[in-house]
Amino acid sequence: MHLETKVDWRVRATCRDEDPDGLFVRGAEQRKAKLVCIACPVRTECLAEALDNRIEFGVWGGMTERERRALLRRRPDVLSWRDLLDNARRSHSFDDEEEDVRVG
Ligand code: SF4
Repeated sequence: MHLETKVDWRVRATCRDEDPDGLFVRGAEQRKAKLVCIACPVRTECLAEALDNRIEFGVWGGMTERERRALLRRRPDVLSWRDLLDNARRSHSFDDEEEDVRVG
């Protein structure tokens, strides 16, 4: 499955009906705040949006500001996080399908 378009993914966000300020807390509070992202069905889209747009503040895609900064520093070569995460998802799905064939 491809990452959803910029517009659609937000309507499926787990945090959609939550207080938006809850994700824009500071420092260590973000580690607690990001728990809402664990089961979010659009976590990948959300993270790609934050990384590609260098959004500095708040929790996005289950990552704190600090975690995203560290990731961006580690991977300055990535031109499109959206493409990278989309490809990773596709190859993961392919691996799962192969495993299903082997098991079945
Ligand atoms: S990953 Fe977290 S911040 Fe992003 S849409 Fe989902 S719940 Fe909200």
